[in-house]
Amino acid sequence: MTEKLPEKADLHDSLRKGVRELCARFPDPYWRELDVERAYPTAFVKTLTEAGYLSALIPEEYGGSGLSITEAAIILEEINRAGCNSGACHAQMYIMGTLLRHGSREQKQRYLPKIADGELRLQAFGVSEPTTGSDTTQLRTTAVRKGDKYVVNGQKIWISRAEHSDLMLLIARTTPVEQVKKRSEGLSVLLVDMREAVGRGLTIRPIRTMMNHATTELFIDDLEVPAENLVGEEGKGFKYLLDGLNAERILIAAECIGDGRWFIERATRYAKERIVFGRPIGQNQGIQFPIAKAYAHVEAADLMRIRAAELFDSGRPCGPEANMAKMLAADASWEAANVTVQTFGGFGFAEEYDVERKFRETRLYQVAPISTNLILSFIAEHVLGLPRSY
Ligand SMILES: Cc1cc2nc3c(=O)[nH]c(=O)nc-3n(C[C@H](O)[C@H](O)[C@H](O)COP(=O)(O)OP(=O)(O)OC[C@H]3O[C@@H](n4cnc5c(N)ncnc54)[C@H](O)[C@@H]3O)c2cc1C
Repeated sequence: MTEKLPEKADLHDSLRKGVRELCARFPDPYWRELDVERAYPTAFVKTLTEAGYLSALIPEEYGGSGLSITEAAIILEEINRAGCNSGACHAQMYIMGTLLRHGSREQKQRYLPKIADGELRLQAFGVSEPTTGSDTTQLRTTAVRKGDKYVVNGQKIWISRAEHSDLMLLIARTTPVEQVKKRSEGLSVLLVDMREAVGRGLTIRPIRTMMNHATTELFIDDLEVPAENLVGEEGKGFKYLLDGLNAERILIAAECIGDGRWFIERATRYAKERIVFGRPIGQNQGIQFPIAKAYAHVEAADLMRIRAAELFDSGRPCGPEANMAKMLAADASWEAANVTVQTFGGFGFAEEYDVERKFRETRLYQVAPISTNLILSFIAEHVLGLPRSY
């Protein structure tokens, strides 16, 4: 592991401090109330945007702060560590790379400065479909070129923040699967302007889930998207999707590390304060060992996340590390969540302690944006050279 340069260490400290101070303005009751209503944290996301944190990855020439994935991950980690929820706004960071790497200069000039100053929100990523699941190459939404437009038809599911985003990156098939050599060819990425699309071919239906995540189902019926909104080359969308996955994995890992640390802090504090049988419950090894073990797992996962981010930022391959970081961090935060509920006893189930809310929130990362099984398949096939299992 490389030693941090002093100026980098200062930057990281000040980022952590700044995010922590901002999050302190959105304490537990704010999230609790939104959770009951399943309402979007508009004020929180607006404050983060105005403070410039969500434009961390946008280059300075387009009005962002031009930071790296390491710093973006620190921002999301601190949000979750403070008890807030990055799930409300993380997509702006993890899909940014697609636009940065593959968008035209004109697209970048048109959208990035407005995203950076908060005039436009790029928070929706339309990949998943009800019938194809994890097998993205089989997706059925089509985009057919007609003159200077694409006409899009299909259905998407689990598209989070669609109601709170002005732009969406949408993946659709532009060449029928029977006309391509490989199933991964013939998919394309379109930038959909939600303000124009809703009611003109795009219908959004919210899905109520076990946690507050603003996720939705999209029904797309003859939606017209200007051909100039094609990102990169037609037919290369799957490659662009894969290009962005390492960033997404690292950022989600950081959120899980933040969750894990939040749980450990709460469990430790409670274990010191709660007196049963005349002594703090944390004096019992049956309580302190699981917390200590969860702590060790969170810290170990963090090393993998730091390693993956360093590789990513230096432009080196990091697929195995990014995937392992996401899996280890998601497992560690889930373990910490379970341990914290156990430590709190009955109060772990009471809404006013926030443990049950965070427990529900961190459970998601075993499944989305990629399930643990698919990460294990990736490691088995691409790192260990075992036969492809699907
Ligand atoms: C709250 C929420 C928010 C989301 N937000 C978004 C979003 O913004 N945009 C978006 O595009 N998607 C989003 N998703 C979708 C998410 O990425 C998928 O749910 C996830 O990738 C899993 O796909 P699936 O649900 O279709 O499960 P499936 O692919 O149907 O899999 C079901 C189970 O079977 C397992 N499985 C499948 N195939 C194999 C195999 N070959 N080997 C071993 N196990 C296998 C999986 O691991 C999983 O456990 C979201 C999902 C949720 C729940």
